[in-house]
Amino acid sequence: MERKMNEECGVFGIFNNHKAVPFTYYGLHALQHRGQEGAGIVSSDKTTLRVKKGEGLVREVFSTENLKKIEGCHAIGHVRYSTAGGGGIANVQPFLFNTHLGQLGLAHNGNLVNTNILKEELERKGSIFQTSSDTEILAHLIFRDQSEKFIDRIKNALRQLEGAFAFVMLIEDALYAALDDKGLRPLSIGRIGDTYVVASETCAFDVVGAEFVRDVVPGEVIRISNDGVLSSFYCKERSHNICSMEYVYFARPDSDIEGINVHAARKRTGKMLAIESPCKADVVVGVPDSGISAAVGFAEQSGIPYEMGLIKNKYSGRTFIEPSQELREIGVKMKLSAVRSLVKDKSVVVVDDSIVRGTTSRKLVEMIRKAGAKEVHFRVSSPELKNPCFYGVDFPTHDELISANATVEEVAKKMNVDSLAFVSLKGLQKSIGRGVTKGKYSGQCAACFNGDYPTNLYK
Ligand code: AMP
Ligand code: SF4
Repeated sequence: MERKMNEECGVFGIFNNHKAVPFTYYGLHALQHRGQEGAGIVSSDKTTLRVKKGEGLVREVFSTENLKKIEGCHAIGHVRYSTAGGGGIANVQPFLFNTHLGQLGLAHNGNLVNTNILKEELERKGSIFQTSSDTEILAHLIFRDQSEKFIDRIKNALRQLEGAFAFVMLIEDALYAALDDKGLRPLSIGRIGDTYVVASETCAFDVVGAEFVRDVVPGEVIRISNDGVLSSFYCKERSHNICSMEYVYFARPDSDIEGINVHAARKRTGKMLAIESPCKADVVVGVPDSGISAAVGFAEQSGIPYEMGLIKNKYSGRTFIEPSQELREIGVKMKLSAVRSLVKDKSVVVVDDSIVRGTTSRKLVEMIRKAGAKEVHFRVSSPELKNPCFYGVDFPTHDELISANATVEEVAKKMNVDSLAFVSLKGLQKSIGRGVTKGKYSGQCAACFNGDYPTNLYK
């Protein structure tokens, strides 16, 4: 399959609040870790939808003045993940469509797998696409459908999509949220009094003072309007396959995904790692930010003291140039540095959440050795990443994934570590603690580890 742009992003929606637009701004700010390439808001003042979007961070895109211009009582927002190619303002969401039926704002987190098939079909029927994003397909399907009720148009359209999606949609007087039938991406509902909010992660609720109501479930479409919240399903076959990497790496530690706190899941995984692959050392060091929770768990379980042996430069941001191997290496130095006094002459256990290409990890080990460490033992709180993700998480191709092409011993050699171990998949699943549901998949997608993709791939 041709690899599409990656769309691991964050979405937010709010219905019926006089602070809808500033609250969406705060919500997007809380979701900033899910995407830094672009951000946008579509608002509704009950009659007209307006859009403001741009490339860059949330705080760079919006100002007090431009937020005032899109004042409204309902809004949806989006933060977009940065990848090579496929960028540009045209692909920044939410999209705003003006049609014979009215206006529609649309934002998407995830990646469809049958994009090419649907797009070809739609183009044959006369659709003209303005962007290279697969999100636009949903709008075409909705407006081509002939059903009388808008919700039926949405359901008929969603039924044709395959892959991962958490959608938020806004029309003049209703907000819709929908999740794919495999439940690959997180999407939650919250409430501030009479106001309903939806967001990719619950950390966005805390910032606007919303309480968590529940998660949107696989195959569900929610309609929020002045009549309240209406739930229905667009398909019969549904299963839970939430992305494991949300717990491992992507989500913010203070978020709860399907009732499980992300930090707690990471800490349990770190403990599991210490049980499965113990080692003798003087100090445990976590790789900021996503490796820290697991490192704390590893330290607690092993009894080895935790130290802030690696410091992250809060202001490093981006390199602003196309990713290349050389740049990635500079990027590591810009981002992280070792604290000499804490690692010098010590045997150090470094805990990180994942090894993707191995670039960061190799540079980190070099850095820690240069700072005087006697031994470096590397522990990883996810299994070996052997397969690409087709559902929106930005993993490189098979060829670039270091563990897809080398054994643990070979990777250890390349990284120049004294020992290397990954948590087992069973150990990870147990640590996340979602339990095992019926059927082929264990309640969470683990395809990047075991190749067991929960959808067709149309390769
Ligand atoms: P590397 O050693 O170059 O493979 O990079 C590993 C680092 O990448 C880890 O610290 C992870 O936190 C981080 N990481 C994991 N998944 C992703 C992803 N999908 N996109 C970007 N970085 C990631
Ligand atoms: Fe998440 Fe991996 Fe599944 Fe992609 S393949 S959705 S990263 S678990």
